[in-house]
Amino acid sequence: MKSGLPIPQSDAALPIVTAGHPALRAIATAVPDPTDPAIARLGRILVNSLYEVGGVGLAAPQVGIGLRVVLFSVPARRLTGAPDDPEQGPMVLVNPLITPLGSETEEDWEGCLSLPGLTGRVLRPRRIRYQGITPAGAAIDRTVGGFHARVVQHECDHLDGTLYPQRMPNMSTLMYADHRLNLTALLAESTMS
Ligand SMILES: [Zn+2]
Repeated sequence: MKSGLPIPQSDAALPIVTAGHPALRAIATAVPDPTDPAIARLGRILVNSLYEVGGVGLAAPQVGIGLRVVLFSVPARRLTGAPDDPEQGPMVLVNPLITPLGSETEEDWEGCLSLPGLTGRVLRPRRIRYQGITPAGAAIDRTVGGFHARVVQHECDHLDGTLYPQRMPNMSTLMYADHRLNLTALLAESTMS
């Protein structure tokens, strides 16, 4: 391991660790050199790990690696339709920084590969600016909203030991995803009455 970073030598997918694992409770370490080839390899490990299980994002701590690296994507099917919510192919971001913009918040369903099967309503700032470096050395600086803002916030929370239930205003919406459609119908009924 030439770089001294705790990253395997192979690109192979790693198992995703679940809530309670120490890596998911810790503050991840900033990457000294985002263009270190080992970080590009970590990006490929994240892509392969996510591909194996399916999902829209993964943070390095979720494969037990305590470095500030996230992977996220915004597929067309998840777009909210807002102009600041653009589609995004898989992007690896190193040392990401988030700045919430404005006071508007939004509540929506989230799930997490580290809390298999569960879902819940999570409150977050609707618009954010995010910055970071790609493993290729490109500086990213974007202002986004909607689902795009949500997935970036969710993944970056993992770098600070935060899981989405910690951001749920009403824990009674934490449930197994199988039950969610029923609840969505109930919530719709209650807003109409
Ligand atoms: Zn997660």
